[in-house]
Amino acid sequence: MLRTGDTIGILGGGQLGRMLSVAAARLGIKTHIFEPSANPPAGDVAHHVTTAAYDDHVALTAFAQSVDVITYEFENIPAEALDVIEALRPVHPNRRALATSQDRMTEKAFLNGLGLATAPFANVENLDDLVKAIDQIGVPSILKTRRFGYDGKGQSRLTADTDPAAAWADMADAPSVLEGFIEFTHEVSVVAARTANGAISCFDPGENVHRDGILHTTTVPARLSPAQRTDAVLLAAKILNELEYVGVLGVELFVTPRGLIVNEIAPRVHNSGHWTQNGCVTDQFEQHIRAVAGWPLGDGSRHSNVEMENLIGDDVDRIPEIAGTATAIHLYGKADVKAGRKMGHINRVTGPAS
Ligand code: AMP
Repeated sequence: MLRTGDTIGILGGGQLGRMLSVAAARLGIKTHIFEPSANPPAGDVAHHVTTAAYDDHVALTAFAQSVDVITYEFENIPAEALDVIEALRPVHPNRRALATSQDRMTEKAFLNGLGLATAPFANVENLDDLVKAIDQIGVPSILKTRRFGYDGKGQSRLTADTDPAAAWADMADAPSVLEGFIEFTHEVSVVAARTANGAISCFDPGENVHRDGILHTTTVPARLSPAQRTDAVLLAAKILNELEYVGVLGVELFVTPRGLIVNEIAPRVHNSGHWTQNGCVTDQFEQHIRAVAGWPLGDGSRHSNVEMENLIGDDVDRIPEIAGTATAIHLYGKADVKAGRKMGHINRVTGPAS
C-alpha cells in the first residue's frame, strides 16, 4: 500500500494524466509523468516529468526506478516499453488488460468468450479478406484499424455503393476489422473500478452523444431500464474480474432493442467518466489512484444529475458565455487550439440524483 510521499508513475501526460495527478496530490501521493512530447498537460501539476520516447530504454528504466508503482493514461503503450518497466515495478492495469484492449480483434474475441455481445466482425488484412468479410457481414458496416484508433480515427463506413478497393486503400495496409453496423437507439458507458483484493465499484452508466466521432456530451442518468442498468454494471464487473484488473476501466455500450452490445473497452480513466467529478463523492480519478495505490475504493455512488460537455477546439472561446451555467470548468492547459483537440470540459449539475 502506498503512503504519503510515495510516487505513482504515469505513462502519458495528457488531460487524463493531469486529472490523475491532481487526484493523487490530494491524497498526498506524488506523480511522475513519462511522455514523449514536450509541455504535456499533466506537466503543470505533476511532481516530475520525463520527456522521452517509449523506445528509450534508459529513460524508461530511470523512470521505473524512481517510482513505487506504474499506471498509464492511454492504451497505445508499446509492448517493449512494458517489458522494461514491468521487470522493475508493478504495472496496473496489467499486461493482459492492455493487450486485450489494444487490438479490436483480440478485444472482441475476449468479450465473446465471456458471453458478451459485440458487433459481428471479421479480420481484414488485404483486399481479398475485405471482399469476403463484406460477403459475410454485409453492409452497412464499418472498417476499423485493429490498433491505434481513437476518437473515430482510422475508420471508414461501407455502404452498398462503396468500392472495396478504395476502402481498403484508405486503410494504408493496416490490419483491420470489419464490423457490422449496429442499429443502436443510443450509446452509454460504464466506468468501473476494481482493487487487487477484488472489490468493485461501478459508477452509474452515462449516456454519450458523439459528434464527428468525438465524445460531445455525457449525461447521467442514462436512459436505461432497471434491467439494462443492472446488465451494464454486471458486464463491467465480469470484464474486471476476468482480467484481474486493478484500476478504472471504461466500457462503451450500444443500447439496442435486443440488449446491450459492447463497442469497446478502455483500460484507463475515461472521458465519459468526467461527470463523476461533480456527480459523485469519489470521482473516477481518485478511484483509480486509490486502486493503483492499494487503498480501499471510495464511495462512487451518484448524488447528482450531471451533464458533461467536452470543449473541442475553439469551443474554449465560448468559456465567457458558458461559465455562468457551468457548475465546474476543467481546462487542460493546452497552449495550441486545434480543430478536434480536446481542450477541456464542463460539468453542469442539473439536479439531485434521480
Ligand atoms: P469507436 O472508435 O469504435 O469507439 O467508434 C466511434 C463511434 O462510431 C462510436 O461511438 C459509434 O457512435 C460509432 N460506431 C462505432 N462502431 C459502430 C458499429 N459497429 N455500429 C454502429 N456505430 C458504430
